[in-house]
Amino acid sequence: MVSGLLFLDCDSTLSAVEGVDELARLRGPDCLERVARLTDEAMAGDMPIHEVFGKRLDLIRPSRGECEKIGNLYLKTIAPGVAAALDQARRVGWLPVILSGGFLPCVAPLARHLGIADVAAVPLCFDESGGYAGFDGDYPTTRNGGKPEIIAAWRATRPTARVVMVGDGVSDLETAPVVDSFIGFGGFVRRAKVVESSPRYIDSFSQLPAILGSLR
Ligand SMILES: [Mg+2]
Repeated sequence: MVSGLLFLDCDSTLSAVEGVDELARLRGPDCLERVARLTDEAMAGDMPIHEVFGKRLDLIRPSRGECEKIGNLYLKTIAPGVAAALDQARRVGWLPVILSGGFLPCVAPLARHLGIADVAAVPLCFDESGGYAGFDGDYPTTRNGGKPEIIAAWRATRPTARVVMVGDGVSDLETAPVVDSFIGFGGFVRRAKVVESSPRYIDSFSQLPAILGSLR
């Protein structure tokens, strides 16, 4: 029986990489530099996410095949101990959900690998030959406040569930007011604003089961 919802960020949390930066890297160093700067500004809270979202995708225009490559990269750079931590969490009633501002075709293989059926990530469109054909600009995680919005919708369907969010970025920290416990994650990147403002902070998924246990 599900008694808790465990929302997990993907980039720099479940996996060491930022998928959008890795897609940009496929376009060369100039594109990478421009995209990485935009990502950093958004995750540090210096620029609204909706402003960087379309800009980055217009610079990259990732194909279906390139998204598959990044999907494999997420798997190769998966956070140490995450599968074991999720198994432990499931045994005591937590349902893991990926809540990502990344791209669904990139995130899906990692979700499958971890046995996570519920994935919130931004859908991309491709043409019949697999070329980039746009993104879902209405999807909540393309903007600030998108992650809390998705969590609120889940809470409405499971009003008695405990709700936890784990993530490294400011878009994750935005969920703190709508969850029972926000856990900052610094296993790959420590972002000052998140370190300072997180009520709980971990550097490894091996620390997660004990915290979840203390919440029940
Ligand atoms: Mg992240």
